[in-house]
Amino acid sequence: MNHFEYKNGEMHVEGVAVRELAERVGTPLYLYSSATLERHFQVFSQALWSKEALQSPKGEAPLIAYATKANSNLAVLQTLAEQGAGADTVSEGEIRKALMAGVAPEKIVFSGVGKTNDEMAFALKTGIYQINVESRPELERLSHVAGSLGLVAPIVIRINPGVGAGGHSKITTGGAKDKFGVSAAEAIALYGQAASDPNIAPMGIACHIGSQISDLTPMQAAFSKMKGWVQELRANGLSVERLDLGGGLGVPYFNQPEPPSPADFAQMVALTVGNLGVRYTFEPGRLIAANAGILVSRVIHVHERADSGQKFLVVDAAMNDLIRPAMYDAYHDIRPVCEPKDTKKGTYDVVGPVCETGDTFTRGRDLPVMKAGDLMAFMSAGAYGAVMGSEYNSRPLAPEVLVRDDKWAVVRPRPSYEDMMNQEVLPDWFRPRNMRASA
Ligand SMILES: *Cc1c(COP(=O)(O)O)cnc(C)c1O
Repeated sequence: MNHFEYKNGEMHVEGVAVRELAERVGTPLYLYSSATLERHFQVFSQALWSKEALQSPKGEAPLIAYATKANSNLAVLQTLAEQGAGADTVSEGEIRKALMAGVAPEKIVFSGVGKTNDEMAFALKTGIYQINVESRPELERLSHVAGSLGLVAPIVIRINPGVGAGGHSKITTGGAKDKFGVSAAEAIALYGQAASDPNIAPMGIACHIGSQISDLTPMQAAFSKMKGWVQELRANGLSVERLDLGGGLGVPYFNQPEPPSPADFAQMVALTVGNLGVRYTFEPGRLIAANAGILVSRVIHVHERADSGQKFLVVDAAMNDLIRPAMYDAYHDIRPVCEPKDTKKGTYDVVGPVCETGDTFTRGRDLPVMKAGDLMAFMSAGAYGAVMGSEYNSRPLAPEVLVRDDKWAVVRPRPSYEDMMNQEVLPDWFRPRNMRASA
């Protein structure tokens, strides 16, 4: 079921007309559908929860730790927390947000290659489920931090399985030269070291090989290596109780073949690493959030170059609002908010107002004919969209709106220009020029 549908010629998010929200809240704005977030979480979770082979020896279902970085709006997090989601986090800020949104500490995983001592201490004092250790120096610092707090750190070691995958080189993480995790040989050595460290409780191993993965083959290859390493650790007399298989399953962006379904993924997982006598963790991010959100923008004007006839659709959203096309050459489907009456198409470069050529959403795309003032939506913008927003070019952050049925709420307002200025402080060597200088 699609919660972004045209009704009476107008795009709706669930029961709310996008045009009305654009008028009330202004553009550009992010819109999220609660029903879509919930459905994606449930479809993915149920696929895994229903597999007998993926129950832990104690009968626990897999932990589905939503990758908070995909969309960390508190209202989005709480929507998912109420469905039973845990949180995969990569900073103290994300742990704090997950807790604030009602995620229980025992469902929080802390990943990332550069956790600071302060962040480790916070995670330990919070009593989170596990810390995913990504290197030897990190393990050594963690031991020190845990020891100084008189706590024992539950960890898994992130192995870089040497199988990279993903929709773009910048989001491939499992390649042998990527910065994430340690080699299997090093992991096995570290695990043994951790087992004899009174400050560390090694619980298992983890991997996460990339994002926007559209083919199960590399995942299957990585997972079957993980199984071998679980067995190797056990053969060394070490106990392995957990296996964290990361996130990374791709979503349809409408310009490529459909990625594998959660059901196919779960089937592959159960066959490849099922019945290992561990508690499983999964960390989906994009899969949950991407197609639950859109970025709505208004056409400022159409600029047709006199020399080439090239048409630029200049819109009021820009790379500071949605950086994926500029950073990853990402494709976003673009749809008019009001269904066009005629089928005539124009060929456009869709660009934002930011002063960089990179601020181009797409080139030479055939779209319904558009004119100044028309509203359009960048589809599949719910993951790695608003979270990567900035105020570059002194453009206020785009607001975020969450829809539930026919209700809606601004869940992050657009800052006013005054709010933006007040973030900055003038040093007191400037003579007061206005009311707020050198307070
Ligand atoms: C980013 C990330 C994820 C989520 O990846 P998606 O492609 O959004 O599913 C999961 N685990 C880790 C460790 C990550 O860094």
